[in-house]
Amino acid sequence: MAGPGNILVTGGAGYIGSHMARYLIEKEEKPVVLDNLSTGYREFVPHDVPFFKGDLRNPQDVARLFQQFPIQYVMHFAAQSIVTESLEKPLEYYENNILGCLNLLKECVSHSVKGFIFSSTAAVYGEPEHIPIREESLLRPVNPYGQTKLVCECMLNDASRRFGLPVVSLRYFNAAGAHPSAEIGEKHPQETHLVPNIISSVLGVQKELCIFGDDYPTADGTCVRDFIYVCDLCEAHYLALGALREKKAAGIFNLGSGKGYSVKEIIRLAEKITQREIPVRVAVRRPGDPARLVADFSRAKKVLSWEPKADMRVMIETSWRFAGNDLESRRTQGKHMKEEDIKESL
Ligand code: UDP
Repeated sequence: MAGPGNILVTGGAGYIGSHMARYLIEKEEKPVVLDNLSTGYREFVPHDVPFFKGDLRNPQDVARLFQQFPIQYVMHFAAQSIVTESLEKPLEYYENNILGCLNLLKECVSHSVKGFIFSSTAAVYGEPEHIPIREESLLRPVNPYGQTKLVCECMLNDASRRFGLPVVSLRYFNAAGAHPSAEIGEKHPQETHLVPNIISSVLGVQKELCIFGDDYPTADGTCVRDFIYVCDLCEAHYLALGALREKKAAGIFNLGSGKGYSVKEIIRLAEKITQREIPVRVAVRRPGDPARLVADFSRAKKVLSWEPKADMRVMIETSWRFAGNDLESRRTQGKHMKEEDIKESL
């Protein structure tokens, strides 16, 4: 019988994982969240979801988790996922992403878990030869982040073949947007991603937006990315879970919108939506950035019956609302702290 906490969401206090935990609750499923809170936020985890603070690099944490909860399916989001950081701290990325996945996988095999859904990335393709990118394309990551995700995919494939663990690897293109409630969204201690940085420039939190390179071989010289709404990603995971339950499908799927937007196009769209001018500065290229990444998601459409619903406008609007909300609550907290300080000093 499916007991409480039978779907494990690792990294469930992080950006995509927290949206997934909510989505599962809305579908009356029983998720349990594991997170080490290194970059996630405890308050992003819904109150009615059991929370286990633990680190996947520590096998004892993973063993305790599986002792406490009757885990049948795993959605593995917990990982470090910033390209530039991975170039600066490659070994930390290898340790976190690969060791974490390996410890989790060993536990899944020994507990005969029924299915494993892995958060992979378009970064496994590196600089693609053809656009849109199909799952069969060459895998040549150009940064340690992409390398670590590819190693995990290989580990999962081998474990699946040997132990019969059903595995789905979902290769996300650029996740963006926030929950319609504006309560959770993309928020990292040190933000590097394009959409939140654009919004920070709109809100005046950062002075200007840096465009990393305008000399790429693209129409306007800036990088082209395929953005996919975070709630559409959650739906894809849920459909993958259904496919695993029905023993219908496993494998690798691209999750993107199939549409490419250049960095400059996104900035212009954000200006239109927010009715504000975004101050920009062109800087040198960021190491490890491929020029163009656009998904062919036809396999996910055919096998999982998945299709993205939200467009770029929704992603920018929800990100803007979330960031405004977050800024407001930080200001309010700041005020409260000052009041407390005042009280203490009296
Ligand atoms: N980018 C940019 N300015 C920023 C953040 C990102 O010009 O402040 C560019 C970055 O060089 C890349 C694209 O936006 O071409 C998407 O970067 P992001 O970090 O959002 O996602 P990634 O593709 O690295 O996963």
